[in-house]
Amino acid sequence: MGITTVSTIAELKALSAQLLAAAPGPAGHGGGTLGLVPTMGALHRGHAELARAAVAENAVVVASVFVNPLQFGDPVDLERYPRTTEADLAVLDAAGVDIMFAPPVEEMYPGGEPAVRVTAGRLGELYEGASRPGHFDGALTVVAKLLHAGRPDTGLAPADPAGRQSYRAYFGQKDAQQLALVRRMVADLNFPVDIVPVPIVRDSDGLALSSRNRFLSDGERDAALVLSRALRLLRRRADAHEPLDIPSAEELVHMTPGVELDYLEVVDPGTLAARAENCQDTPFTGQALALIAARVGPVRLIDNVTLG
Ligand code: AMP
Repeated sequence: MGITTVSTIAELKALSAQLLAAAPGPAGHGGGTLGLVPTMGALHRGHAELARAAVAENAVVVASVFVNPLQFGDPVDLERYPRTTEADLAVLDAAGVDIMFAPPVEEMYPGGEPAVRVTAGRLGELYEGASRPGHFDGALTVVAKLLHAGRPDTGLAPADPAGRQSYRAYFGQKDAQQLALVRRMVADLNFPVDIVPVPIVRDSDGLALSSRNRFLSDGERDAALVLSRALRLLRRRADAHEPLDIPSAEELVHMTPGVELDYLEVVDPGTLAARAENCQDTPFTGQALALIAARVGPVRLIDNVTLG
């Protein structure tokens, strides 16, 4: 059966319960599992990878497409965010997704902006949060709502003996800070869902795929390659257990015309706390995450790489 589009939470709950009741589930995984893939649309191969990961291990898969006004500080950014619903439907269908949930803003926020929101806390103020105040509060609030909306009322199997939930949500490692915050929210607020991370999908030249890449001119796109190049430099040093020498990686970015570095930080992969000890003379050990953000032409780009 192909994909079905729904635009209300009631339709979503009814259809996913119906599909769960009918679905035998992928071989070896049994029935009663549902995967949710939250997106803002303008889908590319990175999103398709999330969808495929969910399809591979769940009986029923829902992908949401919702451009969440709450997480945009800049109305111009919200206005120009690409909306490509027909193409999105084709991407999700090809990946084997069962339901596309594409609600209008009034369905998600029927009373206008919510008076009560999830707050991301201190981690929400660092890195991306420092230049986008309120962004992660808005993102976590909509993820919380989507996690509730996407959870079917009937048909979910109990958690397996290993404690794995039968309700799973898939997030890309591309947005490392968002992933860390969603994991914290789910743990801190006892959401009954497993958060499944999916590796970053890149173009063959190393540029991490992003819905915003379409706004780059050819020259800007070339310049943007310095983000992944700087991260690869750090990874080579980490692999060789050399000092990371962050300033020299920053210099690489500063030397690239048209690229304005915001931050390059080496952090703990779980807490995202800065790991200053690895920045200068100390040989690299252990595991870390290198986060980078820069403005290139009209867009702000982020990327990251695992070290160690
Ligand atoms: P977005 O619609 O861009 O907000 O992203 C929806 C989901 O897709 C998020 O969990 C992102 O982390 C994930 N995602 C976006 N780009 C990529 C990529 N290049 N590789 C892997 N996941 C991605």
